[in-house]
Amino acid sequence: MYLHGTSKINAKGHLEIGGCDTVELKQQFGTPLYIVDEALVRQRCREYMDAFRASGLSFQVAYASKAFCVMAMCRLAEEEGLSLDVVSEGELFTALQAGFPAQRIHFHGNNKTLDELEMAMSAGIGCFVADNFTELHMLQALAAEKGTKVNVLLRVTPGVEAHTHEYISTGQTDSKFGFDIGNGSASEAVELASRSLNLNLLGVHSHIGSQIFETEGFQLAVERVAAFAMQVKEKLNVVFKVVNLGGGFGIRYTEEDTPLKVADYVRAITDAVKEHFSDYPELPEIWVEPGRSIVGDAGTTLYTVGTSKDIPGVRKYVAVDGGMTDNPRPALYDSKYEAMLANRAHDENEETVSIAGKCCESGDMLIWDVELPKVNSGDLLAVACTGAYNYAMASNYNRIRRPAVVFAQDGHSDLVVKRESLQDLIACDVIPERISKQPSLK
Ligand SMILES: *Cc1c(COP(=O)(O)O)cnc(C)c1O
Repeated sequence: MYLHGTSKINAKGHLEIGGCDTVELKQQFGTPLYIVDEALVRQRCREYMDAFRASGLSFQVAYASKAFCVMAMCRLAEEEGLSLDVVSEGELFTALQAGFPAQRIHFHGNNKTLDELEMAMSAGIGCFVADNFTELHMLQALAAEKGTKVNVLLRVTPGVEAHTHEYISTGQTDSKFGFDIGNGSASEAVELASRSLNLNLLGVHSHIGSQIFETEGFQLAVERVAAFAMQVKEKLNVVFKVVNLGGGFGIRYTEEDTPLKVADYVRAITDAVKEHFSDYPELPEIWVEPGRSIVGDAGTTLYTVGTSKDIPGVRKYVAVDGGMTDNPRPALYDSKYEAMLANRAHDENEETVSIAGKCCESGDMLIWDVELPKVNSGDLLAVACTGAYNYAMASNYNRIRRPAVVFAQDGHSDLVVKRESLQDLIACDVIPERISKQPSLK
């Protein structure tokens, strides 16, 4: 398993993260346990901030909180000077409760409800990223009713789709998100928003995909957005102050993944902006929204090995005390992960096994085929790179309790999310009056 950030093997042959021995973390917090390498998260935040500072452009780096949205993480992003993206009232509430400054919060999503818009407007968030005409009309009406004016970015689909190594240049983008540049609806949205007395149109937003390892997709998106900006300036006399280029910067889950350095992604974007906006009245402020690349490789999940099943000549299943409930990504997207025995890190690999979860679902697998030492019941299995879209996507399927999350740094381990209790699992359950609450005496 590749050792990210501060992860290392200590003298006892145990995996150590943030100066904390994972065997001790298990004793203290139990398993499954999400461990976040706090120093690595901070390092990633700083890589983005430093790269933008070096560009000389005005900028905001907004952490896409959907990747891992808990109060401590919102605080950390705030401390590092980042802005924050939210996509629901729940994420907004979490950020506000954590004391994240409302002016630095941007609200995304293709179906924000009236209640959500109202909550965000009352809180005084910095920007709404309007996705469609329904939302524009709702925003306009709500802001008028409140006698206020709100900042708006328009999400546009520039006709670029990027996935890892390929980007696809599509003409008419078939996406549930945003206003299409190609068919004129983006231009119509600019006209509508710029004429509104209650909307302050800051500019446009584009997000081209996720887990991207190349710069071409971003460069092409900048080129298309710049062409669009020129066009609306000429046609409508509207000048964008902000161009948001979204997230999607890739990370290394396994050796197949070859991400660029944060600074290289940022330089490609800022250079493209300087080039394609050179004839624009003023270089726009550039916003980006990394999620995965802020927290992904800083997360490790620790499991205790339970049962195993050897099918001679076929495969050996080794089951852990979690699974698709704490990491649904392998089941959802066939995502690949690396793992190691955290309590016997020096032992030689001896067998190829497949790591199964404990859910009643054959697809509940974490890793197909991983090389490990001879695995015994009670061993500690660490799965790397689980910081993004793991806790955030965790479920209570099979009424499995969601794990605790700890931040580890410099030998300190601090709980940032408690393990759910059995009581938590039934906290929202109600038995209606007409169903007897006592065991029937038969
Ligand atoms: C998901 C998303 C992001 C973050 O994507 P990552 O791949 O986690 O960097 C940023 N912006 C928007 C609009 C998104 O939907």
